[in-house]
Amino acid sequence: MEAVDARLLDPAHPRRVIVVGGGYAGLTFVVTLAHRMKAIDGIEIVLVDPRPYQQALSELDLVAAGTPRPQFAELWHADVLRGLRIKVVYDRLESVSPQGCFIEVGPRGGPTVSIAYWRLVLATGAIPSFPPVPGLRESAITMWSVDDAMRLQRSLEEQFRRGVILCDPDERMEALAVTVVGGGATGVEIVGTIADSMPPLIRRAGHDPSELKITLIEGRPDILYDLPETQRVRARRRLERMGVVVQLGRKLERVEAGVAYLEGGLAISSPVLVWCGGAHADPDAVEWGLSADTSGRLICDENLKAHGCPEVYVVGDVAAFRDPGSGRILPMLAQFAIREAEHAADATLHEARGLPLRPFVPNMHGEFVSVGPSWGVGWMFGRNVSGWFAIVMKRITYVMYWVQVGSFRLAWKRTLQMLRMRH
Ligand SMILES: Cc1cc2nc3c(=O)[nH]c(=O)nc-3n(C[C@H](O)[C@H](O)[C@H](O)COP(=O)(O)OP(=O)(O)OC[C@H]3O[C@@H](n4cnc5c(N)ncnc54)[C@H](O)[C@@H]3O)c2cc1C
Repeated sequence: MEAVDARLLDPAHPRRVIVVGGGYAGLTFVVTLAHRMKAIDGIEIVLVDPRPYQQALSELDLVAAGTPRPQFAELWHADVLRGLRIKVVYDRLESVSPQGCFIEVGPRGGPTVSIAYWRLVLATGAIPSFPPVPGLRESAITMWSVDDAMRLQRSLEEQFRRGVILCDPDERMEALAVTVVGGGATGVEIVGTIADSMPPLIRRAGHDPSELKITLIEGRPDILYDLPETQRVRARRRLERMGVVVQLGRKLERVEAGVAYLEGGLAISSPVLVWCGGAHADPDAVEWGLSADTSGRLICDENLKAHGCPEVYVVGDVAAFRDPGSGRILPMLAQFAIREAEHAADATLHEARGLPLRPFVPNMHGEFVSVGPSWGVGWMFGRNVSGWFAIVMKRITYVMYWVQVGSFRLAWKRTLQMLRMRH
């Protein structure tokens, strides 16, 4: 790979493929295309992202609480793109001109540089979304980056120090409270990690871990709606055994002075509040003049091309791809981002070689959610799996991704680092 200044790119390159976003989808796309293309295809690959690393979001459950090095979830471009014919522009996408086939990159509100493309791949991901709940945005920690994981660690530590010195047990319980809102996979994984890492600290400080009050709030009647019911029940029981109060069926109404108020007047002490209640596509995407659905995800056809824009592919969380099998828009999952990106890379090569395109078929072979570091639930090839096996399978998906975008060497190095972590 080579980091380049956008101004120095050949303004008239006939086969430039620009990929915006170096997350799961963007990295998979550039690596797949770089491996499969030949010199005769005449393709130049340019990756655009302001960051020199990928934030591997699905690995944040490993580092959310307690792990000394949350930076583990950063996958550096220099490690994964080494030796590949890929140019990287470390800048933000500011605007897209689908008619003129060029994009503008540069700092927000600052001077921009135009780069022309033959094909554009938008893989800009999603960001947390907040409903209009008073006090939520100001009080909540989101879980969307290594910085967020570090912020959560700091808040837990500070709250713990403040709480354990209190003499009154009731006051101590109020102070030693953590609330996670959102019973989807992210919320369950984060609350599981906290429920595993905090009790030993409380014990070490000479108190009873039952004084720690961890609550998971979900407005719907159950958690983990994407999983079969038996797996949801297993996950709930596991959380309850870990001391988590699972509060179902009541929506968060407001957050005030460290207290979360739910429908029906229930008040839950929440000096640390983690928001895992939803995400929407990067809001900038709707400003690029491409068709978006109500959540801001860009609408695409069966070839993953943006609606009405034959030169633009959209992949990953930013893409609203309707699965022809289920009739539903695919959920925001790394597994789908990776599949879509592989398909779009092949389709780009087909176009370069004048071959017909095949429609994208999303095939998912399994899904795993950790409930604490050593136990999980999920399914694979139509069968339910749980316990340590689900965790092993989840970690194997990480290793497969490291091999896919990096190398066996990188995967080996990261696997050893992962095994050396406390869990
Ligand atoms: C805590 C957590 C746990 C998760 N666990 C799982 C899991 O276990 N399994 C699973 O399948 N999925 C999981 N997911 C979901 C998964 O992480 C996402 O589906 C996946 O990250 C989507 O990949 P992406 O490439 O579309 O976006 P991302 O990985 O978010 O990458 C988007 C990239 O675009 C860049 N970008 C954004 N805007 C611009 C711009 N204007 N210009 C240039 N670059 C830009 C960003 O810097 C970023 O690098 C989890 C998500 C979270 C938050």
